[in-house]
Amino acid sequence: MAEKIDCAVIGAGVVGLSIARTLALAGREVVILEAESAFGTHTSARNSEVIHAGIYYPTGSLKARLCVEGRKLLYQYCAERGVNHRRIGKVIVASDESQLEGLTKYKKQAEINGVDDLRMLSRDELVEIEPAVASVAGFMSPSTGIIDSHGLMLAYLGDAENKSASLALNSPVTGGAVTGDGIQLEVGGAEPMSIVCKTVVNAAGHGAPAVSRSITGIPAATIPTSYYSIGHYYTLTGKTPFNHLVYPVARHDWLGVHVTIDLGGRCKFGPDFSWRDSLDYRFDESREARFYEAIRRYYPGLKDGALQPGYTGMRPRITGQGQEAVDFVIQDHTVHGVHGMVNLYGIESPGLTSSLAIGGHVGGLVAGDR
Ligand SMILES: Cc1cc2nc3c(=O)[nH]c(=O)nc-3n(C[C@H](O)[C@H](O)[C@H](O)COP(=O)(O)OP(=O)(O)OC[C@H]3O[C@@H](n4cnc5c(N)ncnc54)[C@H](O)[C@@H]3O)c2cc1C
Repeated sequence: MAEKIDCAVIGAGVVGLSIARTLALAGREVVILEAESAFGTHTSARNSEVIHAGIYYPTGSLKARLCVEGRKLLYQYCAERGVNHRRIGKVIVASDESQLEGLTKYKKQAEINGVDDLRMLSRDELVEIEPAVASVAGFMSPSTGIIDSHGLMLAYLGDAENKSASLALNSPVTGGAVTGDGIQLEVGGAEPMSIVCKTVVNAAGHGAPAVSRSITGIPAATIPTSYYSIGHYYTLTGKTPFNHLVYPVARHDWLGVHVTIDLGGRCKFGPDFSWRDSLDYRFDESREARFYEAIRRYYPGLKDGALQPGYTGMRPRITGQGQEAVDFVIQDHTVHGVHGMVNLYGIESPGLTSSLAIGGHVGGLVAGDR
C-alpha cells in the first residue's frame, strides 16, 4: 500500500526549499524529496551568488516580476534571519563607444521593470570609484548585492522544518502516475517506496523535465526538452582591485564575463557560456585564453598568470542552441490539466534572487487549486 502524503516537493535546491517553506508556513505537511545525499548541491551551489536588481529581463516576464519582488523580500529576509549578505552595488560599464547603445537599453528596461535606482556615472566618477576599470560610460546599480546561498538554503530549510516539513535525502523520484486518489510517486534509494500525494511540486531543476516525463498522466506536449549550457568561473589571485561587482555590457544572451566579489572578499570572473550534451560540470581549462581576452577589455591591468580555474555551473535551459532564452516556466493544472501538480522548468538566473517570490507564487497556485 502506498503511503498517503499531503504535499511533496521534488528537489532541495534554493527554489524547492523556498517553496517547501511557503507551503509549510501555510500549514501543509511537506516532504522534500532530494535525490542527492545533501541539499543544494547542483545549480544552487554553482552560481554567482548575486542578488540581482532586475535590470535585464523582458517586460512583463516572470523573471522581471519575480526578480524585483524577490530581491526586496530577500534583503528583508536576510536581515531578519541573519543570512550573510552585502548590498555591495554593481557598476555596468561600456568599454567602448559601440556599447553605449546597450547601456541605454538596460537603463530603459530597468525602469520598465521597476528598478528605479540606477544612476548614470560620469567618466570621472567611474575612474574614482573603480580605478582599475577601463570604460567610456557606465551606471551604478546600488541594489545589487551578494549572498551566502548555502546559508540562505539552511534558513529556508530551518523555517520549513520548524513547521511541518521534513527533508528526505537519497530519495530520487523515479516515476509515478496521476491517479483518482492523488499523484502517486515512486521514490528510489535504499528503501524504495510509493507515496500518494495531494500536492506535488516538481522543482527538480535540471531534472524537472525528466521527472515530469516519468509521471504517467502529465501531457508530453507540456514538458520541455532539457538543454545544458555550462559557465566557467576563474578566480583572481591576490587582493581584488574592484570595489563593486563589475558587469560589462552583454554580448550575446548572457551577461558577459563579469566580476563578482564573494563575501570573503575574493574576486572571481565568469560565467562564460557554452553548450554541453549532458549535465557535466568538468572544468575546461582551454577556456582560459578567452577569459583573459574578455576581461582585459575592461580590466587591462590583468596580469598573465593571475587567473586560477574556479568552478563551473550549468544553466537548466529549456531552449537550445540558436533559440532565444525563455522565461521561467511554472505550470499548474490550467496548463497541464493535472490538479495538485505544479511543474517548474528553466529556473535559471535570477532564480536565486527570485526564490522567495517563486515560493510565494507557487504557494498561491497551490492554494488556488484546492
Ligand atoms: C552559472 C550560473 C550562475 C547563476 N548566478 C545567479 C546569480 O548570481 N543570482 C541569481 O539570482 N541566480 C543565479 N543563477 C540561477 C540560480 O542559481 C538558479 O536559478 C537556482 O539555483 C535554481 O535552483 P533550483 O532549486 O531550481 O535548482 P537546483 O539547485 O539544481 O536544485 C534542484 C534539485 O533537484 C534535485 N533533483 C533532480 N532530479 C531529482 C529527482 N528525480 N528526484 C529528487 N530530486 C531531484 C537535484 O539533486 C537538486 O538538488 C545562476 C545559475 C547558473 C547556472
